Amino acid sequence: MHVIAIGGSDAGISAALRVRELDPSAEVTVVVADRYPNFSICGIPYHVSGDVPDWRSLAHRTIADLESTGMGLRLATVARRIDVADRTLLAARPDGNEEVLAYDALVVGTGAVPIRPPIDGLVGPEALGPDDGVHLLHSMDDAFAVMRTLVEKRPSSAVIVGAGYVGLEMAEALVARGLAVIQLEQLPEVLPTVDPVIGALVHEELARHGVDVRTSTVVDAVGRGSEGLEVQARSTGGSRECLRTDMVLIAAGVRPDAALAAQAGAELGVRGAIVVDRAMRTSLPGVFAAGDCVVTRHRLLGDTYLPLGTTAHKQGRVAGENAVGGSRSFAGSLGTQVVKVFDLVAARTGLRDAEAETVGLDPRTVELEGDDHKAYYPGSHRVRMRVTGDVGSGRLLGVQLVGHRHAEVAKRIDTAATAIFAGLRVDEVSDLDLSYTPPLGSPWDVLQAGTQAWGRGSAATSGDAVRPSVDGGRATAP
Ligand SMILES: Cc1cc2nc3c(=O)[nH]c(=O)nc-3n(C[C@H](O)[C@H](O)[C@H](O)COP(=O)(O)OP(=O)(O)OC[C@H]3O[C@@H](n4cnc5c(N)ncnc54)[C@H](O)[C@@H]3O)c2cc1C
Repeated sequence: MHVIAIGGSDAGISAALRVRELDPSAEVTVVVADRYPNFSICGIPYHVSGDVPDWRSLAHRTIADLESTGMGLRLATVARRIDVADRTLLAARPDGNEEVLAYDALVVGTGAVPIRPPIDGLVGPEALGPDDGVHLLHSMDDAFAVMRTLVEKRPSSAVIVGAGYVGLEMAEALVARGLAVIQLEQLPEVLPTVDPVIGALVHEELARHGVDVRTSTVVDAVGRGSEGLEVQARSTGGSRECLRTDMVLIAAGVRPDAALAAQAGAELGVRGAIVVDRAMRTSLPGVFAAGDCVVTRHRLLGDTYLPLGTTAHKQGRVAGENAVGGSRSFAGSLGTQVVKVFDLVAARTGLRDAEAETVGLDPRTVELEGDDHKAYYPGSHRVRMRVTGDVGSGRLLGVQLVGHRHAEVAKRIDTAATAIFAGLRVDEVSDLDLSYTPPLGSPWDVLQAGTQAWGRGSAATSGDAVRPSVDGGRATAP
């Protein structure tokens, strides 16, 4: 049995590890375009900030760790063509020669590539790049290019295009390095994956740390000027501005890198990602796919595109198991995510109102604030929360949270994710036996106070937000 995994990041390596775990007699080869297998690209902003000084620390496992599992690594090797009928893969080796590798099962984990928006100066033969101080960020090579600009050119300012979670993490990283940062976002609020009222708190936190945030602002062009780079920006209100800067970072999201599988005839779906079934099988015999290159099943929304490291790990593991004859299914995602922005953490799981409406649900959202732990114990922080439930069934649909980074926001969003995964009704969250000690929580955890408030607000019009005050976990009626 020979399994080939294409891609050496979360999906490809998870698949290879699972194959070796389940069937030590199986031969596994991982074909990786770069020289950095199993690196935590999620950690790049913390290397840029200086929190993780040595980039080597970002490796989940070293090359020696990986090889000790028995997998073979072909680094700096690019998969060029899949021949489905012959079950072979054509790969270009670092010396430029090509080789043909035979497989019994193939796992495609080619991931995603950062979006280069069709802006003057970013596309076409004259497009600016890292040597000009214009960067995209997805791979370790991208991280090295950013670090070269920072170390060699010593920029004092940067413009970040995009205020999704990667853009926000990079704003914090560049501020930590002493740069004056302007952050541009075309939508009305930062962190568009949460409701604007939560995004507004993140916006305030960025501003509090000196980031010049400009929302509802579109970039028309990036070019070279007499004093560095120039970014032509236009507010949706119509005013135009030329921003002079030393460095530009484009953080406009990613698109699936599905070209290799598509060329072999694989069916593509949402956003051009590879269609897979729950076993992570593509439409091609013997070919599995996982991670940022595939269409992801959301447990509440159905097919969607949700490029996340957590999901890539799970899908890769399922693909690896099934590549050696297993029968595991990917259980589906809830889009659970969390981001730290300076001293604040914002998180979400499940659905927001508009998303729930797309699948015929009748959502109502309640907003409230409470203490992360008993206020009499020093160091308590307020946590702001939005709880979304389905009016008809009472089922918990989604939770959004924002609070101080010591307020255990991630723990609470994970509890909510577990409740939604299990299909709990909003009122059943109060039945969960959650831990309590005054320095860390309240007899009713703030999450339970939020779900109780949802129950009391059930007479409110759909879509309305009610704001009860919650003191130390004891909610009072609005
Ligand atoms: C800065 C940053 C921060 C992030 N933070 C988080 C976070 O906090 N939480 C979270 O859940 N997610 C986070 N993510 C997203 C997460 O990193 C991705 O979802 C995850 O890496 C996807 O893994 P993947 O294996 O599917 O693909 P990728 O990581 O895109 O890797 C693709 C792999 O395929 C290889 N490859 C591609 N084409 C070929 C080819 N033809 N031949 C050989 N090899 C090929 C590449 O070299 C690479 O090894 C972050 C991403 C970034 C960039």
